[in-house]
Amino acid sequence: MRIGFIGLGNMGSGMAANLLAAGHEVTAYNRSPEKAAALVERGATAVTTVADACTGDVVISMLADDPAVESVTFGDVDTAGILASLPQGAVHVSSSTISVALADRLTAAHAEAGQHFVSAPVFGRPEAAAAAKLFVVAAGDPAVVQDLSPVFDAVGQRTFAIAPDPKTANLVKLSGNFLIASVIESLGEAMALVGKAGVDKQQYLELLTSTLFAAPAYQTYGGLLARREFEPAGFAAHLGLKDVRLLLAAGEQLEVPLPIGSLLRDRFLSLLAGGGRDLDWSALGALAEWEAGGARPAPD
Ligand code: NAP
Repeated sequence: MRIGFIGLGNMGSGMAANLLAAGHEVTAYNRSPEKAAALVERGATAVTTVADACTGDVVISMLADDPAVESVTFGDVDTAGILASLPQGAVHVSSSTISVALADRLTAAHAEAGQHFVSAPVFGRPEAAAAAKLFVVAAGDPAVVQDLSPVFDAVGQRTFAIAPDPKTANLVKLSGNFLIASVIESLGEAMALVGKAGVDKQQYLELLTSTLFAAPAYQTYGGLLARREFEPAGFAAHLGLKDVRLLLAAGEQLEVPLPIGSLLRDRFLSLLAGGGRDLDWSALGALAEWEAGGARPAPD
């Protein structure tokens, strides 16, 4: 397929590389143009405007947050966005973790422009993105989602076509990140407890993950916590806060109280206030050790 790719950050760079490896023709745009260089070496065409990335069958956006997706999609008086540039009948696939409300706006705007919109957020960190091992949660017109199989197969190990309404995928993604953040927080508290009593954290983690907690979330985040490996960030703490905020907004809209979500919002604020904005979000779990008299999550 002829694919435009917008957003070559930690996740997008690996995803775009795997689309190339699978034989797709990739035209890449990134706000900071130097990030396209590695992809050009692999055969991509780098472009300097969003419009130039919108000439194919599909354009995929993998951007930080709602404001980034809004500016790239809707453009402004000086710059054409995806909406003004994509041909009729072409598809915008949004893989960023964005709000349910924005997914709804994008669905309506693309439909009005005669284009398709599919939400396809992903589970998996940058290592999984680089290895084409993501889990894709796709929602949109079932026929369009089906036609996108070669795209999803190139970036992930499994695709879950979850619903015909795009925003459902964003809600599911936010709920998943809420669970991961809950694991990070509770595992951090448990590790602070046993660690202060002198138990070896690595050994403790081995016990947990080879018995009742043999799940990737415990394995991955337990390892990062035990090693205090918070830099460089695979997923930055400020993006984790963004996801909890979006979760709470979705809960408010649906009138679903999420008390642990509210707690996590405050825990992320503590992490950011302590200088942890750009640490990996696993540093959230290190707050408990700090509060118990141990080391700060962020280095001095
Ligand atoms: P990242 O490394 O911070 O990359 C963010 C990308 O967005 C960069 O390409 C950046 O461009 C671009 N961007 C930010 N603001 C922009 C703006 N106003 N206009 C245009 N471009 C803008 O983030 P990431 O870790 O790849 O995450 C991308 C998305 O995937 C996020 O929604 C995140 O929640 C989600 N996600 C992340 C992970 C993970 O483990 N990292 C896993 C699953 C999902 P510049 O290069 O110019 O800054």
